[in-house]
Amino acid sequence: MRFGHIAGDRMLDLVNTVAWRLGGPERVEALKTFADIVEWCTESGLMSTGEAATLRDLASRDGARAEREREQIIEARERAYRALFDDDPEAAAGLASMYRAAIATADLVRTGDRWQWQDRDTDLRLPRDRIVRGLVALTQRDDLDRLHQCEDAKCGWVYLDTSPRRNRRWCNTKDCGDRNRARAYYARQKAKGHQP
Ligand SMILES: [Zn+2]
Repeated sequence: MRFGHIAGDRMLDLVNTVAWRLGGPERVEALKTFADIVEWCTESGLMSTGEAATLRDLASRDGARAEREREQIIEARERAYRALFDDDPEAAAGLASMYRAAIATADLVRTGDRWQWQDRDTDLRLPRDRIVRGLVALTQRDDLDRLHQCEDAKCGWVYLDTSPRRNRRWCNTKDCGDRNRARAYYARQKAKGHQP
């Protein structure tokens, strides 16, 4: 797995395709090319390997359009983040507008026990449409009171805190958790050193 899958909802994992989101100049975009998006979608179960092969082929023939699709996916991701974490109504309206376009290309069909949107065509907009529909579905979850952002000052990763006591402070205990505990420890040691 190349991307993080720690959030408890794959669309929140998409929000985490930015490293050091709150780190200003240290911020790192993980979805730098359309191929990155195809890889994320395949890893996350949003698209089959057959669809991925078709999309890679389409992207190789129209790189400019693939790049525009990538930019719109980033825009959708950032709108979802701003709506969920900053309560930004403009971002929510922008995401809703993208959603109206994203359901216009699909039919609502039953597959087994589940109802889902089925895209009519496999073309370059498919990842965007599925991601936008997924992001709107995320906003409809009934447990968003569990939505939390890693307490590291720069990390910015988000997740659903499903711990029984709702006290999960870090995206990853081994990463942000250990680093912040170590920092707090040294700060305490330093403070002690300055005492008379
Ligand atoms: Zn973190």
